[in-house]
This record gives sequence, structure tokens and C-alpha cells, in this order.
Amino acid sequence: MSNKKNKNLILESLLKKQKKIIESMPEMNDFIIGTIQNNLFFRCGNKNCKCHDEKNPQPHGPKTHLSLRSDKKKKNIYLKKERISDIRKFIKNYDALWISMLKLSLINYEIYSLEKELSLIKK
Ligand SMILES: [Zn+2]
Repeated sequence: MSNKKNKNLILESLLKKQKKIIESMPEMNDFIIGTIQNNLFFRCGNKNCKCHDEKNPQPHGPKTHLSLRSDKKKKNIYLKKERISDIRKFIKNYDALWISMLKLSLINYEIYSLEKELSLIKK
């Protein structure tokens, strides 16, 4: 087999791998970058609430919170029970996207390199 044919076959299989990874990636509207905190006790913003009592403070909780990362600050959001499993899935999707991007980066580089080489090989 010629060098060029061989490289073309490798390129073909890399393009298939690339496509497979892209197809298996979670949708871009189904991920969240954050962490879930269970059993969180907290004081609310109402200074007159029992949670702010000087002698016998009774914090709220235990509650489940989503700690969201944004560009500047961390944001804590109380999660309703029925939403917890969806949010967990969204957080997992972020990890899956990240791993897929790392794999794609390597494959994209190999494809790029092969395409460069092939354009230099004369017929
Ligand atoms: Zn309170």
C-alpha cells in the first residue's frame, strides 16, 4: 500500500472517530458547571427570623443547594427536591463534555497534521 493510501485510510478512521465523539456529546443546553451541597444549614436574609436569634439561633435546613460558578462569584441556589436528579445529570454532562473535548482536541490535531501531510504528497 502506498504511503498516501495508508494516510488516507488513517484520516478516514480519524474522521469517523471524531464524528462518533461529537454525536455522543450531551446537548449544549443540558449542562451546568457547579456542585451540589447536601445537608446545608443556613441563615436567611431576614434579620428578624429565628435563624438570627442571638440567644437561640435556629438555622434553616437541612437543604440541598446548587453552588453555581459564574465568571465572578459563586452563586448558591436552594434546590427543590424534584429538581435534584436533573441537576445532578446536568453536572455529569459537563464532565462528559469536558472529556469529549479533550479527546476531540487530540483527534483534531491528528487530522490537521495528516491533512497537511497529504496536501504535500504528490499524486
Ligand atoms: Zn431565617
